[in-house]
Amino acid sequence: MAKEVLECSFCGRKKPETNLLIAGIDSHICDRCIEQAHGIVLEELKQSGKTELLSDLVLLKPKEIKTFLDQYIIGQDQTKKVMSVAVYNHYKRLMQAQTDDEVEIEKSNIIMVGQTGTGKTLVAKTIAKMLNVPLAIVDATVLTEAGYVGEDVESILTRLLQAADYDVDRAQRGIVFIDEIDKIARKSDNPSITRDVSGEGVQQALLKLLEGTVVNVPPKGGRKHPDQKFVEVNTQNILFIAGGAFDGIEKIISKRLNRQAVGYSTSKDNNEIDKDNLLQYVIPKDLKDFGLIPEIIGRLPVLSYMNPLDAETLRAILTEPKNALVKQYKKLFEMDDVHFEMEEEALQFIVEKALEYKLGARGLRSLCEAILTDAMFDLPGSSEKELHVTKEFAEHSLNKNLLQRLKTAS
Ligand code: ADP
Repeated sequence: MAKEVLECSFCGRKKPETNLLIAGIDSHICDRCIEQAHGIVLEELKQSGKTELLSDLVLLKPKEIKTFLDQYIIGQDQTKKVMSVAVYNHYKRLMQAQTDDEVEIEKSNIIMVGQTGTGKTLVAKTIAKMLNVPLAIVDATVLTEAGYVGEDVESILTRLLQAADYDVDRAQRGIVFIDEIDKIARKSDNPSITRDVSGEGVQQALLKLLEGTVVNVPPKGGRKHPDQKFVEVNTQNILFIAGGAFDGIEKIISKRLNRQAVGYSTSKDNNEIDKDNLLQYVIPKDLKDFGLIPEIIGRLPVLSYMNPLDAETLRAILTEPKNALVKQYKKLFEMDDVHFEMEEEALQFIVEKALEYKLGARGLRSLCEAILTDAMFDLPGSSEKELHVTKEFAEHSLNKNLLQRLKTAS
């Protein structure tokens, strides 16, 4: 009997007429039919209101989101947990917005309170990476500097559009991280600050964006290109994450806690307060006392705090995250066939210096650079294929580098 020629069970094309024929249990499908079927699936999803992006997103449960964050962010467990839930709910809300349900889920915009360099931006970045949505990072202080507040607040959306490669749909599902939100607080308690009104003005302008509105956005930014056509961006499904150091809020928290302690304290043990880390007790009212207007606080309903980074955390940040600094240097050296290793004592030394100079996690990078620059300059192309960083090496390179800088500065 002649050998049977395989054919597509859907369109009947013989194998030689196809580019690819994939075998199933009792049947086959050709490349053209696969593409056609995929088109039908996309069309169906579109009509039922579930785009691909959204159907992917619901697969991530809060615990899975947290596990993802754990790979990049050391410690900060409370914030990671709160974030995971907020992000999960946010995207559930997007799913729900496409059905005609009566219960409307409100936005879960987030505000994080914590010293600079504790990972607030990193949290926002990691979430955007996980969701594969565009992220705009904006500094609230810039918004106060220009007189024309309304225009400037729109510039936030210009950034988001740019981050989304001008795909308005993607931008409308993106994330905006507003850094230094505390700097636009009303400063009525502080007579030395004169920019009182503009702070509150910016807060008012931000309100609209936070609650969801359609904004005419100049795609290239406001002032330099007066002739450009505006793009309409709806902020309803954009997730806003705000962060700030709120310097001095500890005093407000401590005052409130003391008042509470006087009023309600029954047993001492139940009211044990960790005075070294008062931020963990922060509540929305403290933000109001700091100078955020209640409407803004209402639009940022998820409140979390960042712990200060201690030696142990800094040490972990050097080696543990998926893209930890030491891993990055290892990779860089490996590209030149250099085996790179850093001794535990050298790592501890870097941590000590970061703490000593009060540089926080951000300083780890500059310290590593200072220690390794000479090696990164000398080793590529040389016969040396090993770099073993001891504490002495680190100390020596750092001193040398600092001395050089002092010399050039003088
Ligand atoms: P913030 O926004 O709070 O000022 P960043 O997120 O910009 O701080 O942190 C600065 C850098 O420090 C980050 O790029 C990251 O490398 C590192 N970092 C800070 N906190 C952490 C952390 N908890 N886990 C891992 N890396 C961190």
